[in-house]
Amino acid sequence: VSAPLRAWIVASGDELVQGRNVDTNSAWLARALLELGVETERFLVLGDDEPALCALAQEASRSVELLLVTGGLGPTLDDVTRHALAAAAGVELDEDAAALEDLRAWFAARGRPFSESNARQALFPRGAERLSNALGTAPGFLLRSGRALVAALPGPPREMERMFQDELRPRLERALPPRAPRCVARFFLFGLPESSFADRCGEWMARGADPLLGVTAHAGVLTAQLASSSQALLDARVTQFRERFGEWIFSETSGDLGRALGEACLERGITLATAESCTGGLVAERLTRLPGISAVFGWGCVSYANAAKQDLLGVEAALLESHGAVSLPVAEAMARGASLRSGARLSIAVTGVAGPGGGSETKPVGLVCFATSLDGVLQSTERRFAVRGRDLIREFAALTALDLARRRVLGR
Ligand code: AMP
Ligand code: MG
Repeated sequence: VSAPLRAWIVASGDELVQGRNVDTNSAWLARALLELGVETERFLVLGDDEPALCALAQEASRSVELLLVTGGLGPTLDDVTRHALAAAAGVELDEDAAALEDLRAWFAARGRPFSESNARQALFPRGAERLSNALGTAPGFLLRSGRALVAALPGPPREMERMFQDELRPRLERALPPRAPRCVARFFLFGLPESSFADRCGEWMARGADPLLGVTAHAGVLTAQLASSSQALLDARVTQFRERFGEWIFSETSGDLGRALGEACLERGITLATAESCTGGLVAERLTRLPGISAVFGWGCVSYANAAKQDLLGVEAALLESHGAVSLPVAEAMARGASLRSGARLSIAVTGVAGPGGGSETKPVGLVCFATSLDGVLQSTERRFAVRGRDLIREFAALTALDLARRRVLGR
């Protein structure tokens, strides 16, 4: 198995280092390179700084197989990528007659005057291959510099992505040496804290492991990725992973819990309804992202005030009085009411304290009560989410509701 190919990705632009724009190109490119079996070692963000870019390109040409640079290909004097990369490779810049002709034609086709500064965009490092730009004026290029292939792509993401797909990617596939295939599997889990996940799979995440397991977490959803140089190794680990984590895996294709619940209901023809207090409709919002969900979801209510819980769901005033709006009996009454009034087989109810105010000793901020009713059988549970802000508590609550409902549909 050959050594992995490594890349550096540079984003250049004063607007990036001044914090006016965020570098999204590098992340996009790193994902695209992974599909080609190239691992990105570094992201670097520079201003429009010719000496700095030149020095970096020289270092890259000694260190890695691939350097990708985005930005700095415009017509103005602050667009220095061409000059910096030519200097790093130790070659002159030449005006390319065909490129100049294309530029003139581009302006003529749009009835715009061609200004001499645009001629800058027809300059290429000697020996470079031109990458044409289907969506703008700035062509890119590809050249060899030391051990590295160096590519320059435009800054605007749409132009950059199109040029990568149409022009650069096919050339990289031909030019790069043979490399180990990269086999990838993904899992999406809910309800398992990241630290417990780590405890259960520690050795699988050791640096250099093959397959290598990586994990990221957001609002209770863990995204785990297994990457390997061999399909056989990957398949074996996937089987072990499912055995170890099956209880928490809700999908192997998408991190969207609304979709997981929606699809589970659609497959089984189970109709569902929602009754939400502290999540203010987030559960319904997640569900309705799924095209076709109307076949099973037709009814959701936001019953924020006590009066709304009584009017819309038939929750008894006495129950609210004796237990408080955030309580298991009220969550159950909300779920029962949603089922009765909607006629749905499954209902989901959420009521909690999202904060930052409104908490008490017995009902602290972060306490959320859930109830589900499936074919008349109620279940309820409560969670205490860490106090990390109202938005996150609401998001955690919505996702927990979706997951509880999904588990009921699956009979877990
Ligand atoms: P350029 O003329 O090629 O230097 O890039 C012009 C525009 O592209 C900038 O004003 C940004 O809006 C956008 N852009 C440049 N670099 C990036 C980047 N790394 N990520 C996202 N957008 C970028
Ligand atoms: Mg720029």
